[in-house]
Amino acid sequence: MTARAKSSANDSTPLVAPAAKRTAARRIGIHPGAQAGGYGALLQALPYPAALLHRQSDRIDILAENHEFGQFFDEMQGNRHQVERRASRQHDWRERAEAMFQSRRPSDRFEIEFQGQLGTRVYSCSLTWVEGSDGDESLLLLAATDRTSERKAESTLRKELLTDSLTSLPNRIGFVEQIEGLLDELDGDQKKANYAVIALDLVRFSRINESLGAMAGDELIITVARRVKSVLRAGDILARIGGNEFAIFAHVGHGLSEVLQIAERVRKAFESPIRLSSYLISVEVAVGCALAQEADGDAENLLRQAQAAVKRAKRSGALEVYRAHVLREALKRFTLENRLREAIEAGALELAFQPLINLEDGSVKGFEALCRWNDPVLGPVSPTEFIPVAEESGLIVPLGRWALCECTQTMANWDRQHGEQLPITMNVNLSPVQMVRDNVPRAVEEALRYSGIDGKRLTIELTESALISDPDKTRQLLGALQAMDVTVAMDDFGTGFSNLASLQALPIDVLKIDRSFVKDMIGNTDKIALIRAIISLAGALGMKTTAEGIEEKAMAEELRQLGCHYGQGYFFAKPLAPTDAFNYWFKRSQETRI
Ligand code: C2E
Ligand code: MG
Ligand code: MG
Repeated sequence: MTARAKSSANDSTPLVAPAAKRTAARRIGIHPGAQAGGYGALLQALPYPAALLHRQSDRIDILAENHEFGQFFDEMQGNRHQVERRASRQHDWRERAEAMFQSRRPSDRFEIEFQGQLGTRVYSCSLTWVEGSDGDESLLLLAATDRTSERKAESTLRKELLTDSLTSLPNRIGFVEQIEGLLDELDGDQKKANYAVIALDLVRFSRINESLGAMAGDELIITVARRVKSVLRAGDILARIGGNEFAIFAHVGHGLSEVLQIAERVRKAFESPIRLSSYLISVEVAVGCALAQEADGDAENLLRQAQAAVKRAKRSGALEVYRAHVLREALKRFTLENRLREAIEAGALELAFQPLINLEDGSVKGFEALCRWNDPVLGPVSPTEFIPVAEESGLIVPLGRWALCECTQTMANWDRQHGEQLPITMNVNLSPVQMVRDNVPRAVEEALRYSGIDGKRLTIELTESALISDPDKTRQLLGALQAMDVTVAMDDFGTGFSNLASLQALPIDVLKIDRSFVKDMIGNTDKIALIRAIISLAGALGMKTTAEGIEEKAMAEELRQLGCHYGQGYFFAKPLAPTDAFNYWFKRSQETRI
């Protein structure tokens, strides 16, 4: 706040009474000749600075004041070096009084702040109307309450809230606030062009913490903070924004090339290992950055973008620069994951059933159960989109269990509806993630038991990646499935990297030839040669074959001639709702030709 004696628009008519008059008033507490009446005694009785103001000939006079007001006034006027703080605090009490006299508002409250002899002083002031002694003039009572110690306590607390206690660096909130403060001072173009947030993530920090203990972890964090700080320039801001995450806000006049220089300096700072008691620890730092251009000058956004980039840097091992789509992607995934969780909990997923056709006689061999999700907000979401999200989030376990139960239950319903067992099998997909995380044999056993379906009528479709990730576990699982008479099919065969030896060693019954081979096979001798090779390989290993993605009659015909046993694809039928699938089977069971 500025407490300088301010002049009205016309400099010759000061808003405040001349100094000589004020001095006289201060000595006795009452302006000579004024109508302060009984208020003089009242003012003296008040324990805080208070004064009566009146306005005469465009000038505001202090009509009466108490002793405390005198001290307050002197202290305020006595210091020429006023601190100007936040705009909301820059209230000059004379201007406020003038405004009150003009507007006749019932009251006003404001805070003033000035640099006193003992530091910053803060007063909370109020202006209220009182009646003059002769009743025909309104006076203003100005009362000021000292809030200095409260504000000091508040500001200490605030500082604590904004600081990381371990390193004394700003924490995430403090960092964002400092950046906002800096960006506020810049105009639009400056804001956009020249700033970057560089996020640093200590790779494997949690492992160090676990093996050496939290004390050593703290020490490491402090040393890291020191090392990073030592390679920064004056004006760069370093903050600790999370357990093992730091961030730098830097002015980068030369854009990305300057960011690269900073990243390089940080990398160099960790070339030599850190000594913690008797251990030498090599610290690896992942670096991601975001330039202000993309964030539109919003500090919180800028930081989030840098964090998205550092997440990628942890995977790639190289410096990553934020690109707008990275965050959009992350957000989309997040929304998808939350909605999928709700859908699973609410039982809102469904299964569609695509027929598997015996290419020799055109009969329905069975169905593949395919998950369907029609979200009320997002609309129908493809499994190629939500299955990866389910796998990443772990939701694939409840989803996979549900699909197992639902498809066996549907087959049991069809049996009941038909009055006898349908001569068909049910295929269901099993994610490799579920293989690792869940007790699959138990889940299969339960699904069979609850539905009363025989293991022989169930086929589990696995992808090649399942075989590669953990061969021992896969062998155990397949053995357990075999023991329950469950058939195992290798889905999307030809797209993965499974080798022939591993296929031979595992109890796999069916190879499903991936759609990518079938798609443009007609007239393509290379594709046909590949398909022939797969079929003969399967034959040699005692496996049956199913071709995926048959969209034309010619494909079905050609595949049959090549010796492929079963086929699946839009030519026969798209995935169908349960009732439609049953009807499809029923109709087809009456005729047996393709
Ligand atoms: P998939 O197991 O290979 O299933 C076959 C996919 O090919 C299905 O896609 C099916 O609709 C599609 N398809 C079948 N015939 C044709 C055709 O003639 N032309 C074309 N263009 N496409 C055809 P969908 O239903 O979108 O499923 C995609 C993938 O999502 C599945 O591939 C499977 O890997 C996965 N998936 C679906 N449901 C489940 C589930 O319940 N659990 C797990 N773990 N994965 C599932
Ligand atoms: Mg499949
Ligand atoms: Mg497939």
